[in-house]
Amino acid sequence: MPNCDLPRTRRWGCRKLTVRWPLASIALVWIFVAPIHAQSRRAPSARRAAAAGAPAATPPNVLLIVADDLGYADLGVQGATDVRTPNIDAVARQGVRFSDAYMVSSLCAPSRAGMLTGRYPQRWGHEFNPPRSDDSTFGIPRDVPTLAERLKSLGYRTGLVGKWHLGFVSQQAPNARGFDEFFGFMGPSHRYDRNQLLDVGEKLMRNGTVIPDSGYLTDVLGIEAERFVRAKDRRPFFLYLAFSAMHGPLYADPPHLARAEKSVPEGVRRTYVGVLAAMDDAVGRVLDALDETGQAANTLVLFVSDNGGDLDLKAASNAPLRGRKGQLYEGGIRVPFFVRWPGHVTAGATYTKPISALDIVPTVTAAAGREPEPGSVDGVNLLPYLSATAGRGEPHASLFWRIGSASAARMGQWKLVVTEKGSPALFDLAADIGERRDVSSANGRVLAGMQRAYAAWVKEQQPPRWGHDPTEPTLRMRIRRFIAKLFSGK
Ligand code: CA
Repeated sequence: MPNCDLPRTRRWGCRKLTVRWPLASIALVWIFVAPIHAQSRRAPSARRAAAAGAPAATPPNVLLIVADDLGYADLGVQGATDVRTPNIDAVARQGVRFSDAYMVSSLCAPSRAGMLTGRYPQRWGHEFNPPRSDDSTFGIPRDVPTLAERLKSLGYRTGLVGKWHLGFVSQQAPNARGFDEFFGFMGPSHRYDRNQLLDVGEKLMRNGTVIPDSGYLTDVLGIEAERFVRAKDRRPFFLYLAFSAMHGPLYADPPHLARAEKSVPEGVRRTYVGVLAAMDDAVGRVLDALDETGQAANTLVLFVSDNGGDLDLKAASNAPLRGRKGQLYEGGIRVPFFVRWPGHVTAGATYTKPISALDIVPTVTAAAGREPEPGSVDGVNLLPYLSATAGRGEPHASLFWRIGSASAARMGQWKLVVTEKGSPALFDLAADIGERRDVSSANGRVLAGMQRAYAAWVKEQQPPRWGHDPTEPTLRMRIRRFIAKLFSGK
């Protein structure tokens, strides 16, 4: 500031300065502040892109962790009180938790097909689990790229550790669909341990070669995933870690079962919690490897379940949702889903708008620097919705499901469910998350609008190319579940 405690002869300059100072201040404000203000007035989408939607300077590693048949309520961060899942919970607490995340189906294979392509699998008739067949077209069509194929074309090192279930012939094997490395099994599940009385018959493989079991499966998958993460390679990696946990038949090894004994009464639920504890340990092993190798900050971690919990054994919990795996009530398709990417998504946030596993491909590829070409996916890039400056838009105006004669749609707060018996029911999820009160008679226009939207969606889909997996007929499934119940409650 000018010094005005001076003789009058020298205060002229002072007067000039006192006049000039506000002008100078205005000029300084104009020079330095105006651009900031102008920047803040840019279109919200541009700001969001700068904050969150833009790719990282270095393409991030991608770790996609998928649980099998995990119940909506079966994690600590999802409200469970009889389980301890600190490692999986940490992904949610250090990232974004989705309250209304949907899988593409309530069956294993169609869910995974939609998740790995970003497209409704009904577009090519992938509505049921593919049967064992030497038909090389039973799987994802060659002209529909998998996430692994997309990322491989961007220079990623790619690996699958765990379950595939998207075709059984070599042309549809993981190594032929974009994965440089494959350690796991081709079908729906694999026994957890050699001591397990029930052997579902799947073989463990490394890159197509059958190998012997070498320990408790969930531990082994965690060790393999850790090895993949620690490999020294200049390329970014994409690891698809697809656990068999919590798919039946369940078997918990003694150390994890002993841990479950502290919080769960004897029974199948105790076994389930033991299996879950092993999966949480394996997730922790991989997250620790990311930390110890300095890769955590530049790794996009996603955790999701492939469908809702299977309630047949009364082991899983989808509370407060209605229904289970195989159904299109919320308990079959709404799943735990978390995304962690430091500096790019808001840590500790809960996102409540409906989103879908269809969004994984566009979200991950956007992070990697190349979004899918327009019209090639049904999902959307979620990154612009997940930062602190995100706008209020909704990623999806509508989502649809179909399994044979059963169907469902979600539009805003409304959920349309048509069961195999054929009668439509409308639920207001904002008031009735448990889908207990059919309000279709009082909301006829809403019902009609959703039915029209569903009919338009159906026109873009193909009829199922194959039916229910004939290797798992209902009677056989019932017998297996009965036997599993007998032996897994120990
Ligand atoms: Ca499943």
